[in-house]
Amino acid sequence: MSKRAYNFNAGPAALPLEVLERAQAEFVNYGNTGMSIMEMSHRGPVYEAVHNEAQERLLSLLGSPSGYKVLFIQGGASTQFAMIPMNFLGQGQTANYVMSGSWADKAIKEAKLIGETHEAASSKESKYMSLPDLKDMKLSDHAAYLHLTSNETIEGTQFKEFPDTGSVPLICDMSSDILSRPFDLNQFAMVYAGAQKNLGPSGVAVVIVREDMITDSKHLPTMLRYQTYLANNSLYNTPPSFGIYMINEVLKWIEEKGGLQGVQAMNRKKAGLIYDAIDHSDGFYRGCVNAEARSDMNITFRLANEELEKQFVKESEQAGFVGLKGHRSVGGLRASVYNAVPYESAQALVEFMQQFKSNHS
Ligand code: PMP
Repeated sequence: MSKRAYNFNAGPAALPLEVLERAQAEFVNYGNTGMSIMEMSHRGPVYEAVHNEAQERLLSLLGSPSGYKVLFIQGGASTQFAMIPMNFLGQGQTANYVMSGSWADKAIKEAKLIGETHEAASSKESKYMSLPDLKDMKLSDHAAYLHLTSNETIEGTQFKEFPDTGSVPLICDMSSDILSRPFDLNQFAMVYAGAQKNLGPSGVAVVIVREDMITDSKHLPTMLRYQTYLANNSLYNTPPSFGIYMINEVLKWIEEKGGLQGVQAMNRKKAGLIYDAIDHSDGFYRGCVNAEARSDMNITFRLANEELEKQFVKESEQAGFVGLKGHRSVGGLRASVYNAVPYESAQALVEFMQQFKSNHS
C-alpha cells in the first residue's frame, strides 16, 4: 500500500501523520546528539528534558490545576486496574465501581482480588448497551474511591458528564477518550489511560493524580507503589523513553490543533458524520447503543445479519479500510475515530457505507 490506510483501529490506533513524520526526521539523530532518543541514557539531560516537557504539557492542556502530578507507568491501563485497589483500598473500606461495560468489568475483577467492592451503579442488564444513570448511584459506606470508565471502547458508550462524589475520590479510566474533549480535572482524584489510543504508542500508561492521594505504601512491591513514581519523577527504573517522547510530540500536535476544544470540535464533526450515515440508512445500519450514550470515539453498529457484516469487513478491507470489525466479544462493526483519525477517513467511510448499502439492499 503506497498511501496511508483509512485506519479505524481501536488501539493501537492511528497517530497523527505530522507526528510520525517529525519523529522520522529525528529518528536517527535527535537534536544533534548523534543518536536516537531510544539510544540515550534516561538519566541524561536531553531525555530528561523531554520527560519533563511531556508532563508539563499534559498538565497545561488540562488547565494545570495545582497539586496534580503526571506519572508514567508500564503495564498498560490493565496494571492500573490492580494498582488502584492495592494503593487506595484500605482495611475496612470498600472500592466502588460504576459498571458501564467490558472495561469496568475488568477493573472491578482486579479490585475483588484485593478487597471489598461495591457496584454503585450498573447497566449490565442492558448488556451495557446503555449507560447507568449516575443520579441513581448509591455509594457504599466507607467508600475508598469511586471508579468510573469514561468511554467504553468495546460497547461504544461515553459519559457526557461526571458525577460529583463529594469527599469520595473519583478515579477515572480515560484510556479511550483522554484528551478528546475538555474536562475539569479538579473533579478527579486520579485519571489514567493506556497511551495507545489518543496519546502515543503502547507501552506506557499515563497517570494524572492528586498528590495528596499518595501515601507511602511500603507493604507493596516497589514498582506497584505510586509513591515510587512520585518520589522519583517516574525515573526509579528505566522508563519507556521512546513512548514518552512520542507522547510529547502528540501533545504538541494537540496544542497546534487548538487544544482540547480544538480536538473536540474535530471529533464531533467526524463522529457526527458517521452517526448521521447510520441514522439515515433506513435501518440498513443500526447503532448498537442508545443515542444519549453514544461515544464520539468508538462508533459501534450492526447490519441485518452476521453474514452481511462479514461481507462489509471484507469489502472495506479491499477498499483500504482497516479495523472496522467489532470486538470479538460483542461482534458487529466498530469504527474508532480517535483524535488522529483524519476527517477525510470519516468521509471516505461514509461514502463506502453508502455504496455498500446500495450494492446490498
Ligand atoms: N480501559 C479501556 C477503556 C481500554 O479501552 C483498554 C484497552 N483497550 C484498557 C483499559 C486496557 O488497556 P491496556 O491494554 O493498556 O492494558
